[in-house]
Order: sequence, then C-alpha cells, then structure tokens
Amino acid sequence: MNSIENKALIPPRLRDDVQFFSGETSGHLGKTLVVAGQRYFLVDAMTSQLLQSMRIEWGDYRELSQHLVKEYDLICDIESLQLQISAFPSSLFSKQEPRNPFILSWRFLSGPAVQVLARPLAMLFSWPLFFITLAVFLSSTLILFWCLPQLTHLNWAEAAWGQAFALSLIGTLIHELGHCAAIARFGARQNGIGVGLYWIFPTFYAEVHDAWRLPRWQRVAVDGGGIYVQAIFVSVLIFLFLLEPNPTIVLAIWLSFTMMLNTLNPVMKFDGYWLLSDALQVHNLHSQMKRIATQWLDVFLGRRSYRGMSVSLSIGLVIFLLLAFVFLSNMFVFYGKTLGIQIAISEMLFSSHASNFWPLIGHLFVVLVLLVLGLINACKLAASLSSFRSL
Ligand SMILES: [Zn+2]
Repeated sequence: MNSIENKALIPPRLRDDVQFFSGETSGHLGKTLVVAGQRYFLVDAMTSQLLQSMRIEWGDYRELSQHLVKEYDLICDIESLQLQISAFPSSLFSKQEPRNPFILSWRFLSGPAVQVLARPLAMLFSWPLFFITLAVFLSSTLILFWCLPQLTHLNWAEAAWGQAFALSLIGTLIHELGHCAAIARFGARQNGIGVGLYWIFPTFYAEVHDAWRLPRWQRVAVDGGGIYVQAIFVSVLIFLFLLEPNPTIVLAIWLSFTMMLNTLNPVMKFDGYWLLSDALQVHNLHSQMKRIATQWLDVFLGRRSYRGMSVSLSIGLVIFLLLAFVFLSNMFVFYGKTLGIQIAISEMLFSSHASNFWPLIGHLFVVLVLLVLGLINACKLAASLSSFRSL
C-alpha cells in the first residue's frame, strides 16, 4: 500500500482555527456558520456535527463512523462518509487562503491600524446621521447639476486629469474605510485594507469577510458602508467646487460618481449585488431577479395573476433595474464625453507646431486608459450577462 492510498484511509483533521457559530444571528435558521480563516460556510446540523467531530485526528474512517453513532446517533457507512468528506472544501483542512482577484496585492494597513482610523467614522452609522448625510449628499448633487450648465466658462480641456484621478482614488480609499467602520460599529472583525493590481488598475480593497456573522441589516450596512462614506467625501468635493468652480474638481466628482455607480451596479458582483442580496435575503440574486422578472412578464402578457408573487423581490427587481440603468447611462455618457474630449485635445496638440510632446503623450495615455477601462467593463458586463443566460 503506498502512502497516497494510506492517506485516503485516514480522515483529515479540521484546521485548528475553525470556528462554529449559530446561523440564527445572521438570519439562517437551523444552520451553522463555519468560519475557516477568510472562508465562510453555511452548513446543516448534520454536517456541523461531522465537522466538529473532525477536530481531532482519527485512526481511520471506521473510528470516526463509530464516534458519530455514539455521540450523535448518526449512522453512516464508511464509503458514504469518505465521499462526503472528500467533497468538503480543502480550506477547512489546510490554511490556504482564497485567491484574490488581483495580479499583485499588498495589505498596507493592518487590522489594528485600520481600527484606529475607522473608529471615528463608526459613529456615522446611526439613523439620524445617515438621514442628514443623505440629505446633504442629494441636495449638494442637485445644486451641482443645477449650477453646471450656467458655468459656461468652465473648460473641460483645462482639467488636470492626474489630480482628478488622485482625488477620486482618495475617495475609494475612504470608501474601503467606510466598510471597515461599519463592521467595527457592529463588533465584527476587519482584517485591514490593501491595494491590488486589477488588470492594469490599482484598486483598494478591505478585508471584511467577518460580516457574514452579522444579522441581515448590519450586513446591509457593511455592504453599503463604503458608498455611504464615499458620498460624504463627494459632498465635500461639491462644496469645494461651489466655493470656487474648477474643472479638475468637477472631473474628480464625475470620476467618483462613476466609480460609485460601478460598485453599486448589481449586474456585476460588487457592493450593489451583496447589498441587494443581503437586504432581500436571497443567495443567488441573479437567478431570483430572472425568476421574478419572468413572472412579471407573464403578468403583463396575461398568462398569470400577480397574486402570490413576492413583494420584496418585486421591489428588489425595480431597484436592480434602476441601478443597472443609471450605471449604464452614466457609463455611456462618461466614456463618450471623456473619450471625445481627450481625442480632440490629442488631435489639436498633434497638429499644432509648438512643442507639445509630453502633454500629447499624457492625453494619449488617458485615451488608452479609458479604452482599456471601457473594454474591461464591457467584458465584465458580458460575463455577468452570460451568467444570467445559463441560469
Ligand atoms: Zn465597496
């Protein structure tokens, strides 16, 4: 018998740091939440008993099977037990963390460091402050849209793209702090903030997997915490712009809006997807949205009555479509307008006789970044839509 076969005859031992929580607090009645490092699994009572038994090392599957009968009255033949255990994810047994979607990543702020920064922001997560912030954000956005057409002297071509991009990146860092502040407010654990290279773009991320342990509406607050705090940052930018109209700040505001809509777009699995899926308490948001949309189509075609249809899923569908529509409209206008401006400036610089080499390179680089960004968004959108088709 070689060592590989021998290994298969010994049940693996659960890694030491695996924790078990009742699923009731997170709204999953009768389930147990199993936490293995950064991985979270919802399991039924029987699986939970089996996993808890695997905390110690057993000589063979027969021993484990005898223990299950004695301890939990679970009768299971050895072959089924082997089959069941072989189907468990390997992260329950080895300390391999899930791969993140970045080519390169660096966690530059540890959990305790983020805690210091996030603690003052945690007080923002109260209902009175939420409504005040929302009112300030919505009114300042309306004032901005009302003022913009009157500022005809504002020349987009004069906007400093690098500065605008840097400002909006600060906004995304604050966004990640918002997720951490929300999780700190509800007493769950965050594991710091990092930066990763996603395709060719630097992107910040926050490690807030522990939100899985929180009840439904606290999870929603963690999902939306990033956008919420970013909205405060954008309100400050709007205030600065209103004090002194400047094309760089208005560009930073637009970039921030685009990033916020991008992450709120529920067609892709970003914040908006998890926000809706936690609020509606559905595990597979896309299939649920497809199901309720088909039901409504049948109602409009007179094939069925609307009686018995889920109200919360119907409201969810309206929000889903609205967010997707706003995201797509902004994306077309944003890419169309900024690409047009950048190509026009590049053409002008190219045809003029003055020495414009570096500014020309800069604008051509922005054109390239926009094209790649547009291509990535189109690919991700197409991949998300194909997941709808295969449901
Ligand atoms: Zn986020």
